[in-house]
Order: sequence, then structure tokens, then C-alpha cells
Amino acid sequence: MIQRVAVVGAGTMGVGIAQLCAQSGFSVKVHDPEPAALAALPAKLRQSLDSAVLKGRLSTQQAERAFHGVSGVSELGDLAGADLVIEAAPEILTLKQDLFEKLSEICPEGLLATNTSSLSVAAIMKRARSPERTLGVHFFNPPVAMKLVEMIRTDATHPDAFRAAWDFVLTGLRRTPVDVKDVPGFIVNRVMRPYYVTAQRLANSRTSCAAVDESCRSVGGVPMGPFELMDLIGLDTNLAITKAIYEALGRPERLTPPTLQQTLVDKGMIGRKSGKGFYLYADGKKIGENPEATAALSQGAASPAQDIWSNLLGAVVSEAECLVSEGTAGAPDIDTAVKLAMNFPKGPFEWRKENTAVKP
Ligand code: NAD
Repeated sequence: MIQRVAVVGAGTMGVGIAQLCAQSGFSVKVHDPEPAALAALPAKLRQSLDSAVLKGRLSTQQAERAFHGVSGVSELGDLAGADLVIEAAPEILTLKQDLFEKLSEICPEGLLATNTSSLSVAAIMKRARSPERTLGVHFFNPPVAMKLVEMIRTDATHPDAFRAAWDFVLTGLRRTPVDVKDVPGFIVNRVMRPYYVTAQRLANSRTSCAAVDESCRSVGGVPMGPFELMDLIGLDTNLAITKAIYEALGRPERLTPPTLQQTLVDKGMIGRKSGKGFYLYADGKKIGENPEATAALSQGAASPAQDIWSNLLGAVVSEAECLVSEGTAGAPDIDTAVKLAMNFPKGPFEWRKENTAVKP
């Protein structure tokens, strides 16, 4: 029975995961070796909980209880006694391996989970004692709002450990877990890779990034086009995931990391967080296209909106088909995962069924 949760890393994801667990009634300890990150934890929690109260998602009492349910600790050893550890430290393999080697001794009975986006869970857990109680529990950003959680079992994960973590996510946190194998990018990051990579092939001097985004919104009915999304996620983070998946899959040509994105990352134009990406931002609001991104586009002819969307969707559907044929996940799980993680109105297989315009 999971009651005490430990979160490792008080960054973007760690704070959100801690809040979600505390809102759901669990007692949560958060460890971060950076004093500044620990010091910022109460204010970040307070701000996010206040916003949930203002939006009517939590009562004042629930927010207060959640706030007091989280405590920060500066020593990893203070996490002893946790029933479940969720690690949300930087995406660096050796750093995560070191952490799990230590955590498996500090918490000899607890379940040990990583929130990695693109690394192999088995590789992360390589030095953990008793790998049968290790797994991946991949939340999406922001964890308090996103319903999907990808649950990754390695060959070593014991079925009882997986079931306990599954029940925690489903019943304890009221999220939607999907069962996924330990493959590069899991479901969503893998299926959606062509959305970002192909979009950069489609954009050119006559079909701008804005035109591609507009096609996706108007024809596909999705909330954000690929360039808007990359700016939100961070071009650097998104590119790192593309590179990790590309390398792990043996460098397939279709997923070649785009030069355009690399050029912008090299210039420090990494999206909203830097005020410049594919678009320009002022006070957090999009104010127009980034002329440096536009100048770096290839020469090309204009494409109709329907063709742009069909090409992008076709690439996403083909990637989804690869996942099914590799035995990574079933079509219904892929549809559920993409809809919940991307807020898309349909999943790739639902689209393929209904939309004859999908270009293979
Ligand atoms: P982040 O950079 O915002 O936060 C990482 C935190 O870890 C920082 O506060 C840092 O001080 C701390 N840290 C550094 N070294 C540490 C150590 N040795 N032990 C414990 N903590 C340490 O990163 P993030 O965006 O929250 O990502 C964390 C993890 O979650 C990564 O594995 C990432 O791939 C994954 N993830 C991120 C997102 C996202 O959208 N940002 C979504 C899903 C999964």
C-alpha cells in the first residue's frame, strides 16, 4: 500500500508531481541538492495551488492540506521510508544511475520509478539493487493538468510492483495509465516525433512555420501546431528528445534531427522561455514570426493547408503503425495516449479510419 511518496528533483516536473500527489492525499517529501530549488518549492506550490483555487479546481481547504502535505529535504537519505520514489532529476543517464544505486539502499522496500522522457528505464536502473521493484512512470507537463501517465515496465519489473504502481496512478492519483514497453520515446514522444520533424521539412520560403501551424489548427482541429508546440516545450528539450530517439532507433532517415531547429538552438533561440524561437514573444505572448527562423527556411512552393495537414498526419500515422508492428503498444492505447497527452480531438488510428485524406 503506497502512502509515503518521495520525489527527487524540484524542477518543472518534480514540483508538479509533488503537488499532484499531495492534492490526492499522499504525504510527499521532495529532495533537491540545489538549495535554491528547495527554497523556491513553497512559493511554486503556493502559486500553483492558488491558481487551482481561483479556477475552482480545488477548495481552499484542499489547497491548504496539499500545501502542508509537501516537505522539502536537502539529503537524499531523508527519503528513507518512502513507499514510492519518483525521480524527476535532469535527463542525464549517469546522474540517474547514481541516484537509483543510492535510492535502492536508502529505500530497501519501496518502489523506484523514473520520470525519464527519452532514456532507457532498464539502463537507468542498471545499478539499482533489486531491479524487480523498478519501473518508469512518465508524467506529462504539467502533471496536475495532464491525465495521461505512461507506465513502463522493464524485463526485470515484477508484475506485483507494476500493479501496485498502476493502482497508485489510476486510483490514488485518478490519472489514466497506459502500459508501454521500455522503448525509445515510449508512446507519445515516439509517435509525435514526425509531427515536429516533418513540419520542418514542410515549412519553406512560401509555406511558413505560421502557415503550417494554421493548417494544423484549422484543418486538423488540434489546439497547437508543431512550431507553437516546440516553442512551448523548448526547442532545446524537444531537439534533445528527437536526437535520443533517432540514435536509439539506429538513425532512421525520417527522424533526422532538423537543421533549422539546431540552428535556432545554437543561437539560444529556444522558444518561449528565451522570448524567441520559431516565433517572437513579449510578456509571454506571441507577437509574430521570428525573422531569423523565417530567413533560415529552404526555398519551396506554397502548399494548400489540407495537403500540409495530410502530410503531417500521414507521418504520425506511419510512426504509430511502426509501434504496433514492433509490439510496443496496441492501437487503442496509442489513440488514448495521443489524445490525452496532446489534447488532440482524435488519435492517429481513429483519424486513419475516418480520414481518407491521410497521406501515407
Ligand atoms: P528541471 O531541469 O526543471 O528540474 C530538474 C531538477 O533536478 C532541478 O531542480 C535540479 O536542481 C535537480 N537536480 C539536479 N541534480 C540532481 C540530483 N543529483 N538529484 C536530485 N535532483 C537533482 O527538469 P524537468 O523538466 O523537471 O525534467 C525532469 C525529468 O522529467 C527529466 O528526466 C525529463 O526528461 C522528464 N520530463 C520532463 C518533462 C518536461 O516537459 N519538462 C515532461 C516529462 C518528463
